Amino acid sequence: MATLPTYEGPSFGSSKEERLARRNAEKELVGHAAKGHLTEERRDRVRQQSIAEIPWWYSPYGHLAATTGIGLVVLVGSIYFIVTRAHVTWSDLVIVPAVVLLANFFEWRVHKHVLHRRRWPFEVIYDKHTPMHHMIYVEEDMALRSKNEFRLVLIPAAGVLGIVLASAPLAWVVGHFWSSAAGALFLVTASLFMVSYEVLHLCFHAPKDSFIGRRKAIAYLRAHHAKHHDPRYMQKYNFNVTLPLFDMIMGTMAPKEPPR
Ligand SMILES: [Zn+2]
Ligand SMILES: [Zn+2]
Repeated sequence: MATLPTYEGPSFGSSKEERLARRNAEKELVGHAAKGHLTEERRDRVRQQSIAEIPWWYSPYGHLAATTGIGLVVLVGSIYFIVTRAHVTWSDLVIVPAVVLLANFFEWRVHKHVLHRRRWPFEVIYDKHTPMHHMIYVEEDMALRSKNEFRLVLIPAAGVLGIVLASAPLAWVVGHFWSSAAGALFLVTASLFMVSYEVLHLCFHAPKDSFIGRRKAIAYLRAHHAKHHDPRYMQKYNFNVTLPLFDMIMGTMAPKEPPR
């Protein structure tokens, strides 16, 4: 029997033919899953391959510290700037709900159009999400089975850095054309939103009977994301992970009745 290659996602492979074969296999897998035909056995195989791919040096808490740490450094830096250098007026505070709305839209849009559709140059993000994260965790089996599975849930640290670098010019524009306090508040709100996304998503994948999984607020918020983990819903509904604002606005709230 041929040995299985470690799971590196359909965008990888030594030759064009191999990549194509992997992508066709992935398309079939996701297509089957979306029709409600994802088997336990197939899920186990994706899990085993994904875990085999985790490097020996991987540290789950190091990963969590890196992604939330980048957000917290920006947060503390911006708060320090506000306290020591900026004068916040009431009108500056308008930026806070504006950034929450913008970040919520960004979360919805990127999840729907990048994490669930393979698009150049973000193929690897798709690979880690739809044919991996979604095949391993389904609505009635959302829990991580070991700490190493943090790797299958958390955003890569480079991705978080990318988000921070992409939001910095926007904060600069706000700081330049509005006020430096508003620019710093932009960064405070955006980094808080990112940290809450990362922490909440991890909490939603904590075992239901764990200390975190039993919290009422987590159970309440988890229900929305868990529905998105129904393979029949994943490509169509519940793309917000934090608050389902844009799912409501864009009409992508999963229907109450179960799909046929
Ligand atoms: Zn998830
Ligand atoms: Zn998803």
